[in-house]
Amino acid sequence: MENPTTPAGNEPPDETDVLIIGGGPVGLTGSLLLSDLGVDHIVAERRDGTSRLPKAHYLNSRSMEIFDSVHMADEIYGFGAHRPGGVAWYTSLAPDGELVMSLDAFGSGTLAPAYADVSACRSGNLPQKHLEPRLRRAAERKNPGKVRFEQEVVSLTATGAASPPRSARPTVWRAWSAHGM
Ligand SMILES: Cc1cc2nc3c(=O)[nH]c(=O)nc-3n(C[C@H](O)[C@H](O)[C@H](O)COP(=O)(O)OP(=O)(O)OC[C@H]3O[C@@H](n4cnc5c(N)ncnc54)[C@H](O)[C@@H]3O)c2cc1C
Repeated sequence: MENPTTPAGNEPPDETDVLIIGGGPVGLTGSLLLSDLGVDHIVAERRDGTSRLPKAHYLNSRSMEIFDSVHMADEIYGFGAHRPGGVAWYTSLAPDGELVMSLDAFGSGTLAPAYADVSACRSGNLPQKHLEPRLRRAAERKNPGKVRFEQEVVSLTATGAASPPRSARPTVWRAWSAHGM
């Protein structure tokens, strides 16, 4: 965008090598990975905080491998519920509901050996309203001042080479943020 202006006063735009738009589970985990690699980055999240809704809770083995690589797996296993046991269908949730059928699922029961064969990490079980604050705290610790909530990216400009060689400094992003959403 040519000659963008800052929507909130005359604050100068931020410049960074990598701009992560969104501080959900993916953005916050991306931030942890980039911090461990020493990559300069900013996370901008327009919400005023992490999720208030439980949302997703099952974390498969591949997700847990990523959390393990950023040293979050123990905390997630420690605070989360035990591994989900399976899935069952009942005629009713009332006490007199009858079981129609049940299945092993999520790496439980008969599935456990097959899951163990393909990953050293068992699955986890932690709703997003408990996961996100933990990811946020860790991301803020590793990248102080650059994990920013209540900041909506409304405009950005990429500068530098469009396809820089791998050894070159990557594209610089300038992000304009609206405060006090
Ligand atoms: C009610 C509900 C129940 C769910 N239940 C399940 C479930 O049981 N199982 C399951 O697997 N999944 C479930 N999901 C889906 C799961 O929550 C999403 O897949 C997950 O949140 C995706 O993570 P994410 O980080 O990619 O995106 P999000 O969590 O959506 O994060 C993206 C973030 O980007 C921010 N953002 C967007 N644009 C901008 C901008 N311009 N500037 C700054 N910030 C911006 C948004 O505010 C948002 O916080 C559920 C979702 C909802 C809403």
